[in-house]
Amino acid sequence: MGSNSLVSFNVKRLEGKVALITGGASGIGKSTAQLFVQHGAKVVIADIQDDLGSSICEQLGGHEIISYVHCDVTCDSDVKKAVDLAVSKYGKLDIMFNNAGIGDLETSILDISNERFKKVMDTNVYGGFLGAKHAARVMIPAKKGCILFTASVVLSVLGGFSEHPYVASKHAVVGLAKSLCVEMGQYGIRVNCISPHGVATPLLTKGTEIDKETLESLVSEAGVLKGKVLEEEDVAAAALYLASDESKYLSGVNLMVDGGYSITNPSLPMAVKSFMS
Ligand code: NAD
Repeated sequence: MGSNSLVSFNVKRLEGKVALITGGASGIGKSTAQLFVQHGAKVVIADIQDDLGSSICEQLGGHEIISYVHCDVTCDSDVKKAVDLAVSKYGKLDIMFNNAGIGDLETSILDISNERFKKVMDTNVYGGFLGAKHAARVMIPAKKGCILFTASVVLSVLGGFSEHPYVASKHAVVGLAKSLCVEMGQYGIRVNCISPHGVATPLLTKGTEIDKETLESLVSEAGVLKGKVLEEEDVAAAALYLASDESKYLSGVNLMVDGGYSITNPSLPMAVKSFMS
């Protein structure tokens, strides 16, 4: 029997590991921080929402276990500071989760400002690049580590559901991860993406008229897998798997957390159904 046969829900799957999570003050990042702590990891949350980030650290057990650092992922010195904090405070960095991201609803190319394009690419792609670069700086000498990115199902493999810069940025994140996976392999460092379907986080609900419940039911209705709702915790569980040694031979993967949504296109069956009725 392999070592994976020891896996059980009661086992702390990240015992002894240190993780840095960007965008960890809200949504998917916050839920992942919580799950990683439950599984024995020491965690650094890096975000720009200082009050939220600090209060999550208090809730999750305080500075011995989890720390907050103000870090704008588009700023090289901030990202360097966050990685260095993980190393100085907890001794090393095993898991770099490049999760911070921004996006907006669909807008015409005619309306999107050049500044908006640059801002989305800066946060979602350049931010992930900086995270990977500074993580690699400490992971390469250690000859181990795990770099994760949050991409997106609807936007890293499909298009047309969001603003153009966001779609372009998530496609780019997957390309960056693939390219890094090849270089990092020689050092024993794994690089993977997680691509969730729609999760009712502030990214999707803030500033809109759609509340959490409505959004969840819309996503479920459009989904292939019925009777279940995609929640932040499901994405966190995927991150836990990819960050743990259970996935020790997984690298270069874009793990879809979408209940099968991305493998089909229902428009033809729907057109046929409506023609037949
Ligand atoms: P969220 O808004 O709840 O969390 C995003 C976090 O990123 C926030 O805490 C925000 O402060 C932080 N952030 C934004 N810009 C930053 C910057 N420059 N520096 C540091 N932190 C910054 O949204 P979420 O849904 O949890 O998003 C997390 C990731 O998941 C994003 O990359 C998003 O694109 C991706 N994603 C979300 C969905 C979804 O449906 N919610 C689907 C697919 C992918």
